Amino acid sequence: MIESHMRRPHFTRKGKIFMKIPLRPTHLLVNLTQLRRNVEAIRARVQPAKVLVMLKANAYGHGVEGVAPYIEPYVDYIGVAVLDEGVRLRELGITKPVLVAGGTLPEHVPYYLAYDLTLTVSHPAVLQAAAAAAESAGKQMKVHLKIDTGMERSGVRWYEAKALLQQSLRCRQLDIEGIYTHFANSETLESHETPKKWGYAYPSEQLARFHEVLSFYEKHSLPRPRLVHAANSGAILNLPESFFDMVRPGILFYGIYPDRGVLRSVQVAPAATWKSQVVYSKITQAGHPVSYGSLWVSDHAVRTVTVPCGYADGYFRRMTNQPKVIVNGKKYQQVGRICMDQFMVNLESDDADLGDEVILLGKAASGEQILPEDLAEWAGTNAYEVMTNISARVPRVFFQEEE
Ligand SMILES: *Cc1c(COP(=O)(O)O)cnc(C)c1O
Repeated sequence: MIESHMRRPHFTRKGKIFMKIPLRPTHLLVNLTQLRRNVEAIRARVQPAKVLVMLKANAYGHGVEGVAPYIEPYVDYIGVAVLDEGVRLRELGITKPVLVAGGTLPEHVPYYLAYDLTLTVSHPAVLQAAAAAAESAGKQMKVHLKIDTGMERSGVRWYEAKALLQQSLRCRQLDIEGIYTHFANSETLESHETPKKWGYAYPSEQLARFHEVLSFYEKHSLPRPRLVHAANSGAILNLPESFFDMVRPGILFYGIYPDRGVLRSVQVAPAATWKSQVVYSKITQAGHPVSYGSLWVSDHAVRTVTVPCGYADGYFRRMTNQPKVIVNGKKYQQVGRICMDQFMVNLESDDADLGDEVILLGKAASGEQILPEDLAEWAGTNAYEVMTNISARVPRVFFQEEE
């Protein structure tokens, strides 16, 4: 009886994924149909540019095992940050091209051949290792060159890129499929419009530097790599000149705008709903403080309920006493120190029973909504950190809308 409840198949276009049925009431519901709509909205803005979706960090917390197989047919390319994430995609049966965007040590280069992953190269030593590995395996390796145009993270800097470009052309076994850069300030409109801070508009300056690097190919009458790309979510919204051959949406694909002040030139909606249920309901008397540290106390009797989710699930402890949660369709105040596994909510004079619905993030049937940006504000961070910190203990449940 219990055994048969442990796993159920989840069907996608490509086949079956087996998922555990969550026994705990706290889970992240992921609307795959909404993710597809988000890709379509992005594609409509950037076409004819191709779309690479960023599935790094467990698909920004949404659960890569459900998101990747479902979304694969609708995208042209998939991006991840680290090698292991690329390997995981192949193990999930993903066959579309996968770009690993983060830095790689020369000794890890052979894995790119073994798993047919696209290597990001920004260092001569890695390029050399790639050429050697491809040579000895007798295979072509797909490479994207990464140019740093003002991020100062990784990538050969724009003013010294020529040598790497020249070196890349000498490697017969390498397919230099792409060349790209990454924006440091694409999401804030002011960085596009008020050049005071740096003496120039940062994103367009980065773009100009990138063009300068690309002109190498023209100058030498060489074909430039087939996939020139630059735009993250902020640039997709704010900077059409940055679309080139492909764009790389991350947060926007999940229906979240990278910044409150961003141009909403693509209409997307969040796909994730973080749900739980009331596991305890009681009257807390006046003057009886709630939770560790006794950080909250009421001067009148109130109903408080306990929600089985805490900072070990990614519901940040530093939000204590700030979040609102939706209980039975209505917003209420979280009260008392957020514990590792639970937190309390003040319902004042309202009622709630065991099993009643609690929404920590997302939209209730009543229309009440809590956005990733709200959690970000309570936690003093951004929506990226909120989503990527929903921990592995929270089961991801995937569904598609009936259409
Ligand atoms: C994470 C990442 C992106 C996506 O960024 P968003 O702001 O989430 O759109 C794009 N490109 C690279 C190289 C990245 O690492």
